[in-house]
Amino acid sequence: MVIDAGHGGRDPGARGRKTNEKNINLAIAKRLGEMIADGHKDVKVIYTRTSDKFVGLETRANIANHNNANLFISIHTNSLKHGSSVRGTETYTLGLAQTKENLDVAMLENSAILLEDNYKKRYENFNPNSSESYIMFDLIQNKNMAQSIALATEIQRGFEQAGRKNRGVRQAGFLVLKATSMPSVLVEVGYISNPDEESYMASDKGRTELARAIYNAFGRYKRDYERKQGQGVSRKEAPEKKKEEPKSSPASRSSSSSRSSVSVQFDGPARSVVGESRHSSTSSNGVVYKVQILTSDKPLPDNARAFKGRRTSYYREGGKYKYTCGETTEFKDIQRLHRELQKDFPNAFIIRMKDGKRLK
Ligand SMILES: [Zn+2]
Repeated sequence: MVIDAGHGGRDPGARGRKTNEKNINLAIAKRLGEMIADGHKDVKVIYTRTSDKFVGLETRANIANHNNANLFISIHTNSLKHGSSVRGTETYTLGLAQTKENLDVAMLENSAILLEDNYKKRYENFNPNSSESYIMFDLIQNKNMAQSIALATEIQRGFEQAGRKNRGVRQAGFLVLKATSMPSVLVEVGYISNPDEESYMASDKGRTELARAIYNAFGRYKRDYERKQGQGVSRKEAPEKKKEEPKSSPASRSSSSSRSSVSVQFDGPARSVVGESRHSSTSSNGVVYKVQILTSDKPLPDNARAFKGRRTSYYREGGKYKYTCGETTEFKDIQRLHRELQKDFPNAFIIRMKDGKRLK
């Protein structure tokens, strides 16, 4: 497995009052690596860096790819420009950001490529600060998604058990995750912009507790994985065998196709392309959950201000255009999205849909 301490060298990552992100990431990465090497003798731990040096995002992923690693854990520290009260942990898997908040995190982390030589050529003119660049994450079909989410879920559970605030498993377009060919997660261990959390992450105790939380999560993931596969997690070919759809299909994935269906497919009575194609293999009888955020007399453009940066889909009912976010067959996933959306849309509510029609 590969442990990736984010940033390093000329790239400090997020800056704090006492320390910088790169130092926190490295300390936790090393501690985690020591714990795994100690506790799981069958696992080979590889680091993308073990000192304060600059490593490009693509290089980090290639270290994992070239070593046939079967797991990639990238360690980062979060930061908000405004507001120092936000605290807590998030674990990301690769996907299309469902919220502006998640997109912002990916933009911040991806902007590390601006410090690389030839970044324009290397990343095919990807502009980390332009939301347009992230549309490509719409198209990603990630065969490792189920496992990545399983690990991310365990990591968030680990943080919660360690007494840290759990801000959830999320999806966004991280270049470093996109370039890896194995299950991969990007962990934000806390907010350096929160003075209390910064002190915790700068402390020996905090770093050890955070590393142990990830270590415990890794152990649970590995055990579960081995039980399901009947073989070691250290085998390269193992991840490929698991082909079934993720149990909790994240909203971000389905929203990608519903988004394209808004512009081309809908004319007259709404027809849920997503419900028919993407979810035909699930046991939900084509019933999906969405969060309705607003209703309009006229169709609105995708980038309408009223959407507050959210990606939406719509259906028509009673001559009105009803706009929704997310789409999932899992009620707990839509509940999570609903809670999130209520911050921007206090009147948002969950609906059930089948074949593009709302169910009562
Ligand atoms: Zn970072």
